[in-house]
Amino acid sequence: MARYDVVIREVSVLDGTGGAAAIGDVAIAGDRIAAVGVVDGAGDATIDGRGLAVAPGFIDVHSHDDFAAVLHPDLAFKVAGGVTTCIVGNCGMGAAPYTAAMRMAKTFHPRAVLPEWSGYAGYAAHLESTPPAANVGFLVGHGTARVAAMGSKRVTPTSADMAAMRAIVDEGVAAGALGLSSGLIYAPGSFAATDELIALAACFRGTGGLYATHLRDESVGLLDAVREAIAIGEAAGVRVQISHHKASGRDAWGLVGASLALIADAQARGLAVAADQYPYTAGSTVLSAVFRDGRFESGLGRLDPADVVVASAPDHPAWEGRTIAALAATLGATAAEAAAHVLAAEPGATVVVHGMCEDDVRTVMRHPTTMIGSDGIPTLDGKPHPRLYGTFARVLGHYARELGVLTLACAPDAARTSSSSIPRASSIAAPSKTRIGRRRASTRCS
Ligand SMILES: [Zn+2]
Repeated sequence: MARYDVVIREVSVLDGTGGAAAIGDVAIAGDRIAAVGVVDGAGDATIDGRGLAVAPGFIDVHSHDDFAAVLHPDLAFKVAGGVTTCIVGNCGMGAAPYTAAMRMAKTFHPRAVLPEWSGYAGYAAHLESTPPAANVGFLVGHGTARVAAMGSKRVTPTSADMAAMRAIVDEGVAAGALGLSSGLIYAPGSFAATDELIALAACFRGTGGLYATHLRDESVGLLDAVREAIAIGEAAGVRVQISHHKASGRDAWGLVGASLALIADAQARGLAVAADQYPYTAGSTVLSAVFRDGRFESGLGRLDPADVVVASAPDHPAWEGRTIAALAATLGATAAEAAAHVLAAEPGATVVVHGMCEDDVRTVMRHPTTMIGSDGIPTLDGKPHPRLYGTFARVLGHYARELGVLTLACAPDAARTSSSSIPRASSIAAPSKTRIGRRRASTRCS
């Protein structure tokens, strides 16, 4: 009789396809799922799975773990939530070319010293040689490529600049990148015209790669920004991924109904468009992205200083967890003066921004084209947005189990299952490539 390390008995098996759960056994040998269904063999350890569910590891489709995967290879903040694959390189911020990437790495990891690598191939090779605890798939960052090719000035690229950026993107394509990302509210991504993005996204035509974008505007200009993303995908001949889809700022609340309709229209025309989302009404970014020219108005909308909380200010920990409004009161200053004061002392300060409404979060989550991505900022210091740690638990616990926004199998249009109605499986095909909780790195999303 076969012998396994662990056998989980009579557990509700969700295979990740969105299909209904089935009760079965799961046997684990080493770091592999060895059998699923009715398992005759015994395990060194047996877990009573009744009343519990088991699923393949989650893919964090929108992460910023490019450098955390190197600095903190245990990726404990992700693995603890069931994540076994992280897609990095989002919002225009990629891991190469190295010098430009390090400028961006300093924002999230101000004191970190990173080993040097050459290009995306070098980054992938580093992960292969020092594997983090989760698989890593990477995107080429448009902003990083632009900084490397032409600095961070607000200028139109010359043909030589375009050739330099194309060479960077092509190197990423050859190294196995999953697509191009842009961050169009951040400098220098915000300086790029639509044509520049089309030309660079087109490097992925025919590769299966996609164009993932932090839209130019997630507030009252949301719909035009979604139209631009779709136009880029159609002109470049690549799939489109709308990053952390939301309507930010009170003036924009409710626009997600129309933006999801734009996605559905594009799909009806034959373009593959999808979105990702983190399950919170608060976002997180750098303070410099939401406070500009003395005003709390940006691509994230018009914000109240009482809704902007300092998340990380490494040299001023007393500021962390406090709103700009509260800091202003302490300083005897206006909110704008307080924000300028924080930025002068901590140019890379990150903030949590309470800018969305709950109905919009649920509307986006219910949509069949929405995937879950944490967008977590892995600073690990300060008081980071809880999405870094809690995204997947919150989707399963709060939104699926408590609210029923999704079924546990994440099939929004399927009836909710209950344990009494789950059939007993006589045989479920073993997912031979699924791995459980062991170290492995790959440059491809599996
Ligand atoms: Zn973003």
